Amino acid sequence: MKICVNCNIELRPLENGAWFESMADFGGYEIRAGDIWHCPECGLKVGIGMADKPIVRHHDPDYQDHRQRLVDSGDTLVQHWQHQKAKEAAKEKTCP
Ligand SMILES: [Zn+2]
Repeated sequence: MKICVNCNIELRPLENGAWFESMADFGGYEIRAGDIWHCPECGLKVGIGMADKPIVRHHDPDYQDHRQRLVDSGDTLVQHWQHQKAKEAAKEKTCP
């Protein structure tokens, strides 16, 4: 059971089979399948239930092609960082 502690209500499944891309300082690290649940009251969304094994990792030669196929298929791809500091550092590298 998953509960929104702001609204005191159970979260509901929103999208099964979304993709989650773990980000490193050099870019995408790996992509795993997972699910997105949400709170029907406040709209909070969470990514949960990640697959044990990634479908592609950064050292795979076709990483970017594989990633692009997921995006082109219309599936949801959520990029995520381990913590706020890493996310901010990545933005500084990519933004002028
Ligand atoms: Zn809520």
